[in-house]
Amino acid sequence: MSTNEELFARAQRVIPGGVNSPVRAFRAVGGVPRFVQRAQGAYFWDAEDKRYIDYIGSWGPMILGHGHPAVLSAVQEAAVQGFSFGAPTEREIELAEAILAHLPSMDMVRLVSSGTEAAMSAIRLARGATGRKKIIKFEGCYHGHADALLVKAGSGLATFGNPTSAGVPPEVVQDTLVLEYNDLAGLEQAFAEHGAALACLMIEPIAGNMNFVRASVPFIRRCRELCTQHGALFVFDEVMTGFRVALGGAQSVYAREIPGFVPDITVLGKVIGGGMPLAAFGGRRAVMEQLAPLGPVYQAGTLSGNPVATACGLATLHEIGKPGFYEALARRTQALVAGLRQAAADEGVPFSGDSEGGMFGFFLLDALPQNYRTVMTTDGARFNQLFHGLLERGVYIAPALYEAGFVSAAHSDEDIAQTVDAARAVFRLLAR
Ligand code: PLP
Repeated sequence: MSTNEELFARAQRVIPGGVNSPVRAFRAVGGVPRFVQRAQGAYFWDAEDKRYIDYIGSWGPMILGHGHPAVLSAVQEAAVQGFSFGAPTEREIELAEAILAHLPSMDMVRLVSSGTEAAMSAIRLARGATGRKKIIKFEGCYHGHADALLVKAGSGLATFGNPTSAGVPPEVVQDTLVLEYNDLAGLEQAFAEHGAALACLMIEPIAGNMNFVRASVPFIRRCRELCTQHGALFVFDEVMTGFRVALGGAQSVYAREIPGFVPDITVLGKVIGGGMPLAAFGGRRAVMEQLAPLGPVYQAGTLSGNPVATACGLATLHEIGKPGFYEALARRTQALVAGLRQAAADEGVPFSGDSEGGMFGFFLLDALPQNYRTVMTTDGARFNQLFHGLLERGVYIAPALYEAGFVSAAHSDEDIAQTVDAARAVFRLLAR
């Protein structure tokens, strides 16, 4: 049996950084990544057979926990029938119907293989449908790694982006306007200056890529009004929040406060694939009919609507559609955050936390941040101490302070209690 350390050394010889997605490398927190051997329910076991309570769940998809029997048998049955055809199947229609049934903002949906692909295609669709070039995104929101979206803001007010990654020519992001999250004044100014040129505004409505930060209700309301007024499309990136915070996604959470609220385009991923490579984007019929083969906006994929992935997604949606599912999930997630808050308070450690459905976040700060700038004021060294303290005690949270956490239906009250106990022990060390 190889140790995590041996596997990491071997991996680094053949895979850049030893990982196939950067955060997995533990660069932010230091130390050796855990190589997963197998997973079941709320747990996974690393190469050394140590068990962890898993609060990443593949970064969101595993809402039922690992190896749910109904999902597993759907995948097994589908795999026997064939891995990929490159021709349409009835299951794709079923999955499209199942998605649309819960999202009234969407009349049609196109299935793709990753959130990156879905967000990139949504931008192309918005540009094609409006005949405009400029897009708005917000600092701290991640929409995958398509070139035009790999931008962060400069300092101060609205700034046209500079690429965050090498290899992205400045010309590619010159039409991407980056604003501060929850900043109404910046939003007003951007529309006043660029409204007529804007194809869309894309947002993570509850941002999970700067830990957990909600867009305020007035902010979402104003985004909606300004997009409508200026003829720009409002794109909700619900890759993380879709079917995670509620059956109707974050848009249903905002619709409780803003009657009749709908975005124009929704981007989905993660939960709809149940752990398989599957994502989607959709919207009103008139917008979606701009896509090839009906319209002029090209978009395609060899593995799009893959029969095994769609079987996995369908079985997952079937399970989470059962009555009471989200109530139970939300209750457990709230219990986790409340338990952590209490433990931190008892030990005198600054703490703030929040959750919606099965998604949560917490900060070693007294108050919940409203934007990326404030998130980044968290003391990284203290977070790293917390991360490693939990890891040592068999609790696996995201190895970076700017990531959200996920609870699954498989997490028991006992798991939550164990997690809170582990956190309490680490808070005690942090308080010294
Ligand atoms: N959009 C959001 C909100 C995400 O959280 C992510 C991934 O974490 C993406 C898009 C990109 O999805 P993928 O990693 O499947 O390409």
